[in-house]
Amino acid sequence: MKLLMHSCCAPCSVYCIDYLRNEGIEPTLYWFNPNIHPYTEYKVRRDCLKEYTQKSNINAIFEDEYGLDEFCKNVINDLDNRCTNYCYRVRLEKTFKFAKDNGFDTVTTTLLYSIYQNHEFIKFLCEKYSKKFGIDFLYRDFRVGFWEGHNKAKNELNLYMQKYCGCVFSEESRYNNPNLPKPELPKDFEFLPANRSIVIKKEKDNKEKYMDLLLEADPEKEIVEKYLQAGELFVLTYKEEVICVSVIIKIDDKTCELKNIATAKKYREQGYGKKMIKYLFDNYKQKYKKMIVGTSENNIPFYVKAGFDKYYKTIKNFFIDNYKKEIIDGDLHCIDMYYYYKDLTKK
Ligand code: SF4
Repeated sequence: MKLLMHSCCAPCSVYCIDYLRNEGIEPTLYWFNPNIHPYTEYKVRRDCLKEYTQKSNINAIFEDEYGLDEFCKNVINDLDNRCTNYCYRVRLEKTFKFAKDNGFDTVTTTLLYSIYQNHEFIKFLCEKYSKKFGIDFLYRDFRVGFWEGHNKAKNELNLYMQKYCGCVFSEESRYNNPNLPKPELPKDFEFLPANRSIVIKKEKDNKEKYMDLLLEADPEKEIVEKYLQAGELFVLTYKEEVICVSVIIKIDDKTCELKNIATAKKYREQGYGKKMIKYLFDNYKQKYKKMIVGTSENNIPFYVKAGFDKYYKTIKNFFIDNYKKEIIDGDLHCIDMYYYYKDLTKK
């Protein structure tokens, strides 16, 4: 994935970059914010991002366009709706266009991090521009880490923390009307605790290190070794302890397969496997249309509940033909392999 992430400022970028790097994704940042005024404020935010990206070794592209005149001309007739009618649009459309013209295949934005922005509308606009420009949109609800990112930016990195959204009108509201209501988050919304203790990462090196756990789901080492080499391994840790691992392989340009998912014994039936599967769906939906999984009879209900809700095919005598020893799962002697799939183009 070649990801271009629109960045509104350094403090909002910190958590988003950490989040994506945790997923094995390295974003290139794109600064285009003609909505920040006056010029001294624009400059301090831009330079803060420049310094931060240089220090943290992150690629960043700066479209240096201070746009007070143009911005005011476009919002002045409807100030109440300036965010949705102009401000989000002009920045996001330009980001998608830049991605298209410069070889990026996916776009996201740090605007999805702020609890003060209109999250659903930003998502809707990104989906719209994704279709218009034929560029994937990587959606993540970065708001879950809002306070974690805020603390890191402020207390650890000492970044410049702005006091208002950006435009002169937001500056006026901030100082003239400081008792504005707090934004409303969705009903079941939860912030992740600071220093997130559950982390899922793609592991490129030392894949063999996880062999013992992988063998609990698929007991023949030679078979596991083969797909482990060809596939992508993901590791879920909780407070740095390995809880769950999974391996994905490519079948063809449209299909990938979950070849193995194994959870450490003492953490089973606590939802970690489902968390891993949800993560894999989100991660691979940009790349493939379908994810398949093969299972013995006993585990069909687990996979169906986790989202593999469509039957695909059965391979008769699979376990007898492919494994040297008999495969026993609980009280079941495994013979046939049942395949189910998740349509990654749907929720
Ligand atoms: S308040 Fe913020 S999002 Fe809205 S128009 Fe001003 S700078 Fe843009």
